[in-house]
Amino acid sequence: MRAVDLIRRKRDSGELTSEEIHQLISAYTRGDIPDYQMSAWLMAVVLRGMTRAEIAALTEAMLHSGRVLDFSGLAGRKVDKHSTGGVGDKTSLVIAPIVAAGGLKVPMISGRGLGHSGGTLDKLESIPGFNVNLTLAEFQRVLETCGCALIGQTAEIAPADKKIYALRDVTGTVESPALICASIMSKKLAEGIDALVLDVKTGSGAFMKNLEDAAGLAELLVETGKRMGKKVVALLTDMNQPLGRAAGNAMEVAESIEALSGGGPTDLRELCLELAGWMFFLGERVKTVEEGKKLSTDLIASGQAREKFREIVGLQGGDIGAIDDPARLPHARHSVEIRSAADGFVASIQCEQLGVAGVVLGGGREKKEDKIDPAVGLEFHKRIGDRVERGEPLCTLHYNSDARLAEARRLVETAYSIAPHKPETIPPLIYRVIGA
Ligand code: URA
Repeated sequence: MRAVDLIRRKRDSGELTSEEIHQLISAYTRGDIPDYQMSAWLMAVVLRGMTRAEIAALTEAMLHSGRVLDFSGLAGRKVDKHSTGGVGDKTSLVIAPIVAAGGLKVPMISGRGLGHSGGTLDKLESIPGFNVNLTLAEFQRVLETCGCALIGQTAEIAPADKKIYALRDVTGTVESPALICASIMSKKLAEGIDALVLDVKTGSGAFMKNLEDAAGLAELLVETGKRMGKKVVALLTDMNQPLGRAAGNAMEVAESIEALSGGGPTDLRELCLELAGWMFFLGERVKTVEEGKKLSTDLIASGQAREKFREIVGLQGGDIGAIDDPARLPHARHSVEIRSAADGFVASIQCEQLGVAGVVLGGGREKKEDKIDPAVGLEFHKRIGDRVERGEPLCTLHYNSDARLAEARRLVETAYSIAPHKPETIPPLIYRVIGA
């Protein structure tokens, strides 16, 4: 196999065989194909797409680039959830402890920030000491001890996704249903889970901007999971505006702690209850999703969910003191408010621009080797449909360096559109559920 031939074939809209895809992925994972050839092939996939057979082969090749875990010896159902990514999407940090506190096992393998969207691993690493790079033995020990462990892809689990994900993040090759499906499902199928809840985002801050594309991706994900014998549903949820009031690694941890303590923004809380409700249902802990939501509410109210988060953080080397007192999480030194230039109502938000502003401030990566600043981020004061007066703050930027502040400011200023009348439709939090 010559990589250049496979690149040219995909460039010209051709189809690759399953064997060619397996060879390409294993050669890249071994280091026998350079990043520039893989990047060119990924771009060809973004532009030309893949057939169902190619997507299945890619998912399997990435899944079998490492070990597939087997936790069948561990009592209890294993469930997980994964999001396709958005701005301020921190639900994993809230849901994983809730569901583990409710008695299910959550072996969660997550990703880092991708493009303009944040990643669970980067968020967790803003907790001083938190180790997302556990060995498999440590992963299993934490899972056995407290019912949940949160790690990234490793040299052992889905290593192909680890390498390809980092490359896609900085080469404009995220927005492909085929690549997103293979990336998510290779990680999730390697976890040894029984059931999976997917949160497929749609809107201006999602990778799939319109509802039909997002529904197509959701169907692809559900079909792939079911083919592999898992119980899977996908919730199509809104990303036309950030989730919650904060986007930025440490700021999102703080907001998640608020939600685990019974507070936090309503949209974040509602989505977490819905996703956790489905996890309890698919994990056969309850008879209905409603019952699962009620159980989740009770676990928050009793303090058990927050206590579970402390336990996970402690077992993974993190500073529990920062969970008890989020003021100990990294904080940016400076802040500046972006104010409305007019009276009116927030008509729409270019949510991706807000995510890019966070990256520009240092909260995400533009090159693979970039180090991120856990403290920086954006705080949102207005949502779509809210009344706003001229001079009122729409968003606060929290930053440490003003090197690219002007660029971030411009992105945020132009992200909000203010209209004289209240918009007729406010996007719902959840559009529909696929695969139920
Ligand atoms: N989440 C992933 O894990 N992979 C993607 O490609 C997109 C979102």
